[in-house]
Amino acid sequence: MNGLVPAGGTPLLIGGTLIPGGSGVFPTVDPATEEVLGYAADASPADMDAAIAAARTAFDETDWSRDPALRARCLRQLREVMTAHLEPLRELTVAEVGAPVMLTSGPQLEGPIADLSFAADLAESYEWETDLGTRDLMGVASRRVIRREAVGVVGAITPWNFPHQINLAKIGPALAAGNTVVLKPAPDTPWCAAVLGPLIAEHTDFPPGVLNIVTSSDHALGAQLVTDPRVDMITFTGSTRTGRSVMEGAAATLKRTFLELGGKSAAIVLDDADIAAAASYTAFTVAVHAGQGCALTTRLLVPRESYDLAVAAAASAMAGLAADDPRKPGTVCGPVVSAQQRARVERYVELAKAEGGRVETGGGRPAGQDRGYFVEPTVISGLDNSATVAREEIFGPVLVVLAHDGDTDAIRQANDSPYGLSGSVWGTDPDRVKAVVEGVRTGTMSVNGGLWYHADAPFGGYKQSGIGREMGVAGFEEYLETKVIATPA
Ligand code: NAD
Repeated sequence: MNGLVPAGGTPLLIGGTLIPGGSGVFPTVDPATEEVLGYAADASPADMDAAIAAARTAFDETDWSRDPALRARCLRQLREVMTAHLEPLRELTVAEVGAPVMLTSGPQLEGPIADLSFAADLAESYEWETDLGTRDLMGVASRRVIRREAVGVVGAITPWNFPHQINLAKIGPALAAGNTVVLKPAPDTPWCAAVLGPLIAEHTDFPPGVLNIVTSSDHALGAQLVTDPRVDMITFTGSTRTGRSVMEGAAATLKRTFLELGGKSAAIVLDDADIAAAASYTAFTVAVHAGQGCALTTRLLVPRESYDLAVAAAASAMAGLAADDPRKPGTVCGPVVSAQQRARVERYVELAKAEGGRVETGGGRPAGQDRGYFVEPTVISGLDNSATVAREEIFGPVLVVLAHDGDTDAIRQANDSPYGLSGSVWGTDPDRVKAVVEGVRTGTMSVNGGLWYHADAPFGGYKQSGIGREMGVAGFEEYLETKVIATPA
């Protein structure tokens, strides 16, 4: 496809060499048309073994971890070569992810490419050593210095919903910090990662083995990365269920695990807010990219006395957003990624009905779309926070509207969730808004539509939404060890 994908399919990048997969190839599919776009190398366990060995050697036997200037240069070269191939990358991303093209000028492509600068700059500007000064310790005058060092070999395992965002938000800081990396992307979106292989091999100075890209149709290769003793750290984004298994698998070798997991975030509308506007806006955000965003506020908590008004506003906003061809410039809601994901969303809609919920709009497949994994933007009402669709992550364009009985109850319900990833509050009284922001146990909070997403803002979850923070200086420091060096003064 468009010059980025070689005729036989995308290769693996292992030890600086582009190689075919030991298990042949596997198809990647356009979610909007159900057509096979082409093929990606299907790595074997032996390929994964070789990638880990290459990353280990590059870490142990080269100066990569001690050369921040080289790291910054390589990351800037990666940003430049991706920018030079922006249009083919955009076309490929829309085709493989089913991402609305409008999102590729933001978090689906251009945002994460630009964010590589943040990582590159940190490699150069970070204070790698901090002098604690001299202290008399048990009669020995000692000068102590805190030195930050790379963790070692990092296994990066990523999902399919925002592949560039998540791949680059892991490899950028991990490499900038001096680690070497084995990237294993999701089987649904292998190309978004794999096309970087030839670009890196041909247009950057990354030493062989510093960054390895291993595509596979088999989740077991992720598990192999997690359990291999040569890997020092796993950075994982995906479902909470898989996150648990990653943590279990990493326990045998006590690996550092950094987990970005699922969410069921709440938008809290206070009674002094413009309730219809807040409900419409929240509904709109849940339809974006067919609801395949971990931080979306998929529970809308509104004052009980304004419930009908909020439901009507949300339903009207959702009804105006047809699930449509992601290549059209105006499309907000494209397809979900696969038939399996569509079946999951449909199963949840049926569950909502079985538990007494009403489907206010949507709930099915759009009329006239007989190809593509499309789901209509959907609003569900008539349930409380104990309903399955209010507790579990659906990962589709489905908003559940719930009633609250005042600010304290709204905070209680928002927190009555195994998750704690994100959230929002809508209101005009600053003190009440502040109380909600401080009361909700989540990693990010938006106030009256404020946006937090940028390279400098740490992102991550409380509770079962994860451990650690991605992006920002905090995200960079996840990839660092701390060493204290003492010398006689
Ligand atoms: P998933 O958990 O099924 O898979 C994620 C990755 O893990 C894939 O690369 C997969 O091959 C790999 N994997 C699967 N089983 C594994 C195992 N046992 N050991 C190691 N690796 C394994 O998730 P998904 O369906 O690809 O993505 C959707 C999920 O990702 C949603 O739950 C969503 O909330 C979450 N997500 C979270 C964030 C965040 O930052 N918090 C961002 C995006 C998506």
